Amino acid sequence: MDSSAPRQCVLVIDDSPMELKYLRRALLPSYDVKLARSGKVALDLAMNQDVDLILLDVVMSDMSGFELLSRLKSSDATKHIPVIFITGSNSRDDEIKGLRLGAVDYIRKPFGETVVNLRVGAHLQLISQMRIIEQFSLTDGLTGVNNRRSFDKQIKAEWIRAVRTQSCLGMLLLDIDRFKNFNDRYGHLNGDICLKIISKTMQSAVMRETDGVFRWGGEEFAILLPNTNLEGAVLVAERVREEISATPIHMVGETAQVTVSIGAGSVFPERLDHIDCMTDFCHKLDQALYRAKANGRNRVEVI
Ligand code: GH3
Ligand code: MG
Ligand code: MG
Repeated sequence: MDSSAPRQCVLVIDDSPMELKYLRRALLPSYDVKLARSGKVALDLAMNQDVDLILLDVVMSDMSGFELLSRLKSSDATKHIPVIFITGSNSRDDEIKGLRLGAVDYIRKPFGETVVNLRVGAHLQLISQMRIIEQFSLTDGLTGVNNRRSFDKQIKAEWIRAVRTQSCLGMLLLDIDRFKNFNDRYGHLNGDICLKIISKTMQSAVMRETDGVFRWGGEEFAILLPNTNLEGAVLVAERVREEISATPIHMVGETAQVTVSIGAGSVFPERLDHIDCMTDFCHKLDQALYRAKANGRNRVEVI
């Protein structure tokens, strides 16, 4: 594993302090380890901290391991965390029950440090590989920004968050002006270089960590601005527009410049059944973008 990558975190849940101590010592050389002596504390940690894997005792005083696993699996925040049962029981039925509830593995006591480390390591490696694949599936191959699939996922998540937190959601739709002419004049390879440069400019022009740049398709991009009202969205749109028009597009032997037209808006999502409203919001942004084109390009229009 990359030594500069953050250490993965294992949450160990057992009501025996001896067991906790033993497992902590076994895992600490390779992982960050968090400990919980009760189901309640464990749920709180799993919900609110970045936990990559859980080692869970079956028999505990406040809540059985099975009940805790069911609760973890019923929450969106924790259902993806792999759980390995650790148990002193020899019951095959318990093993079947645990695996049916969604545990990824089952380790019987007594066990050695090596076995625990090897099994935990195998599952964490699977998780890392899955995350890499997921990241690829959400990234645009040419520009490295988020792709359309990622946009579809993200706007739903931001919409739901905005309803829950009663906040607004800003968004920009951008389209490069006369990009066909650019390709005709400088060639498609240079057109691709231009798309990469514009993407970097957009990424550096948005300031908040929660803002996201997406390739919508072709030479069109979307920027999601959570918790941003119309005034804020227009401010960002103007900054993006100005920075793009001031960015030199360096090509072999030549330098060019491009401009973008932008549709900007903000919405106050009120309902969780969001599909129609989201489509309507995107449609209005598209119309604003169309107006920006019709009114002369290199400009921002609002919905
Ligand atoms: P407008 O100002 O009205 O947007 O004019 P335009 O020429 O940008 O618009 P139009 O939709 O007619 O053309 C978009 C062009 O974008 C077509 C294609 O040449 C170019 N394009 C789309 N995707 C890519 C890409 O991945 N690479 C390159 N090099 N060009 C692309
Ligand atoms: Mg276009
Ligand atoms: Mg265009």
